[in-house]
Amino acid sequence: MSNELTWTTTIKAEQLNLANGFAELPPAFYTRLMPTPLPDPYFVAASARAAELVGLSPELLRNEDFVAAFTGNAVPEGAKPLAAVYSGHQFGVWAGQLGDGRAIVLGSVPSKTGGHPLELQLKGAGMTPYSRHADGRAVLRSSIREFLCSEAMAALGIPTTRALMITGSDRPVIRETMETSAVVTRMAPSFVRFGSFEHWFYRNQFDELRVLADYVIDNFYAGLREHANPYAALLREVTRRTAHLVAQWQAVGFMHGVLNTDNMSILGLTLDYGPFGFMEAFDSRHICNHTDQQGRYSYANQPQIGHWNCYALGQALLPLIGSVEETEAALADYQAEFAMKIDHLLHAKIGLATFEDGDRELIDGLFAVMQNSHVDFTQFFRKLGNLQVEHPEHDEPLRDLILHRDEFDAWALRYRERLRREQSVDGARKAAMDRVNPKYVLRNYLAQVAIEKAQRKDFSEVEKLLAVLENPFDEQPENEQYAALPPDWASELEVSCSS
Ligand code: AMP
Ligand code: MG
Repeated sequence: MSNELTWTTTIKAEQLNLANGFAELPPAFYTRLMPTPLPDPYFVAASARAAELVGLSPELLRNEDFVAAFTGNAVPEGAKPLAAVYSGHQFGVWAGQLGDGRAIVLGSVPSKTGGHPLELQLKGAGMTPYSRHADGRAVLRSSIREFLCSEAMAALGIPTTRALMITGSDRPVIRETMETSAVVTRMAPSFVRFGSFEHWFYRNQFDELRVLADYVIDNFYAGLREHANPYAALLREVTRRTAHLVAQWQAVGFMHGVLNTDNMSILGLTLDYGPFGFMEAFDSRHICNHTDQQGRYSYANQPQIGHWNCYALGQALLPLIGSVEETEAALADYQAEFAMKIDHLLHAKIGLATFEDGDRELIDGLFAVMQNSHVDFTQFFRKLGNLQVEHPEHDEPLRDLILHRDEFDAWALRYRERLRREQSVDGARKAAMDRVNPKYVLRNYLAQVAIEKAQRKDFSEVEKLLAVLENPFDEQPENEQYAALPPDWASELEVSCSS
């Protein structure tokens, strides 16, 4: 197949209404190129909710023209495919130039829900000038994980890039074992990263730095233009969003796994799903990424890493902001914003409607109980909603999750006193807690079951799991097994950076 910049498909301009998006920027910011086709692509899965955002239907996405287009085998009319350049700090070390090594943006499509236009990006669509030593491909396994988790996070109400669909091809890809190829179509208003700014800063190309900052402000933070120093305002706002995002992760036990600055979204979205995980047996030191031996990105470290990453962004924006004081002042908001957000989220998780001085200790006490008993994070918070203030004798289902029951009992005494002080009503509190404590999260083993079936060309479990995760807060009596603790074999599962 030709690799010229002109080939198109039967997908007509009016079907997607592609506009430029990132391609508006000067050529220094990207390389225009075509995706590399994959042999005999097939449909794996689509998200109806993501499709709705851009006015497509999941049925349409099964159509072979869309399968071809979203594999990168053909390019829709109006597309200006490109790979963006960026740099970043990986595991705390300056890594120099990275860039979209396997992701190709087609352009942006209008949002049907009144939001920003969404860029369509094909992840796994072939080599780019930024592929370094890698192959430009993504495997079916990690594509399914990214697809499911993006949509699960959206359903949890956590800012994230979206996943529209996955296509697959039997073309082999070498990782630890031989796997097959897949392409995920991701959507976000922008895929600009902290590392996109660091790139120009470290090259001392401050003109490009300014062009990028202006692009981000004008397109996504237009309100900040009014500020005396819009670049300082940008840093402050991104810092705030990042602090809130990490607080939301902590509150559902989500661990990103690779919080390098090239994986940090300038819009405060969860970006680049790799070896992520949801906390199961609670251990605040838990490391979900097998490659991260030092635990830099452990659950407990995420909040402080979020701050560190904002510092890296602040450093890069310093030439535009023009003063160290203003830069530091913008960054200084992180701790207070994080503390405020997590405090609200944790109050809601334990069903407190008011705030009291001793609450922090009460909440810390709960995490100590959870830590000592390695209690399942999701099940515990969900079941805590069933506690009845005046009926400790009904605590058994909750106590069953706990190894050191005396510790739980002592904590529950204080919790009950606290609930009485605000005249908490059992039924109303449970209803409120069920709206913030998900019953269903993407446990590794659930993803693994879906992946193994998909590797045998049975994609039904991907679809089923997506449907369950789209309503994480609902009781779904017919899907009770998806809320179960991981089976023994799951303890052998390891996820690494290899994807
Ligand atoms: P990650 O840590 O997965 O976000 O990736 C870090 C960098 O490696 C980015 O520049 C990616 O585009 C690039 N990369 C990761 N996997 C591949 C691959 N299979 N082919 C080309 N580039 C890759
Ligand atoms: Mg990345």
